[in-house]
Amino acid sequence: MKQSSLICFLILSATSFAQSRPFPGPDVQQIYQRLLPQIEKIPAFDHHAHPGFADDPDVDAMAATPGSEALRERSTNPELVAAAKALWGYPYNDLSPEHTRWLVEKKAELKRQQGSAYFSNILDKLNIEQGVANRAMMADYLDPRRFVWVFFADSFMWPFDNQREAARNPDQQVYIPLQEKMLHRWMQQEGLTRLPANFAGYLAFVSRTLEDNQKKGAIAQKFEVAYFRTTKFSDPTPEQAEDIYQRFASGGIPSEREYRTFQDYIFRHLVREGGRLHLPVHIHSAVGIGDYFNLSESNIMNLENILRDPRYSSTIFVMIHGGYPYDRQAIWLAAAKNVYLDTSETEILLYPSEFKNVLKQWLETFPDKITFGTDCFPYNEALGAEESYWLGVQSSRTALAAALAEMISEGEITEPQALQLAHGYLHDNAVGIYQGKVH
Ligand SMILES: [Zn+2]
Repeated sequence: MKQSSLICFLILSATSFAQSRPFPGPDVQQIYQRLLPQIEKIPAFDHHAHPGFADDPDVDAMAATPGSEALRERSTNPELVAAAKALWGYPYNDLSPEHTRWLVEKKAELKRQQGSAYFSNILDKLNIEQGVANRAMMADYLDPRRFVWVFFADSFMWPFDNQREAARNPDQQVYIPLQEKMLHRWMQQEGLTRLPANFAGYLAFVSRTLEDNQKKGAIAQKFEVAYFRTTKFSDPTPEQAEDIYQRFASGGIPSEREYRTFQDYIFRHLVREGGRLHLPVHIHSAVGIGDYFNLSESNIMNLENILRDPRYSSTIFVMIHGGYPYDRQAIWLAAAKNVYLDTSETEILLYPSEFKNVLKQWLETFPDKITFGTDCFPYNEALGAEESYWLGVQSSRTALAAALAEMISEGEITEPQALQLAHGYLHDNAVGIYQGKVH
């Protein structure tokens, strides 16, 4: 009896010690200052990025279209001067055209000197151990020991006459021909000069491409389908998809409904194959660029029927960009054991003061399912992949330190637990997905 009351007392006192508070204490700044240098020392795995030079067409399988840029993404962002100073020792305090020329020349000079070590050196400067290169094709100037390929799988969904698809809006006029080009590159890779005569042949071609890309080193397949159509996928029968293929593979324009039905089947085929081949599925799940990106048609919650379908329980899904601005809903999708979230893009659209709140809520819910990414991209000569790497890394590490400092100060977690969560988010959670293929 005595012993049980002692245990009872210990539990009660432990509980009262761990009682969390709704406000951080006055120690929060101090905790932040203590955590940040430790967090900066954690070698990161960048789960989503597009490294490459601005003149390299293989950086993405689509192209940037005109559209409104959020404040932080504009060329007037003074943080870009800080990036240039940190990365290149930029001697000026503005990005005037003549000063920007210094930057462009400096980078060109280093590129000539360093060759294929150029981008590895950027990773070194930012303490990124290894990073994803989500690109149409890999570049010979990216060292395969530091950069792992994630290819684009969308184009398999657009094999027919795409006139109607491209005519939907000016963004599609840019995107759809690039999908056609990507599909032709896969066909070329697999030795096809035309679409297979029957549907079984087409599915075999799709699967073979995945297998061959995996042999070339790809660790995952990526969808940016939200840019091209709704992310609500129905569940057609193989007979329905086969019938549409037989009618349109050699010509003719399917109705929008027929095209979507066919695509829904192909998407599910790719997801199924992702399970069979242990080739995780990355899906763009947040707001996107362009004037016609449809926020409600691409809401991350549209994908819940796919993510929670027991037929795909062996497929790992990574929700790229974590569904922003539906990040509050998104974290609950990570309740499914095979679903992960990535924070790339969100950490650049938002400033660290607000990104901290997103991260905090996620850390408080499923901290073992969230992963770090930069979404670096060569926007132009001055704002290159290099500077966007820097912005993504700085934003993520500072917001992470701030979120964890609040959680410690509010009595939610201990400091050792906080550092463990930091390792998980910056490195361990993502690396654990790929079964020894990355480190
Ligand atoms: Zn991206």
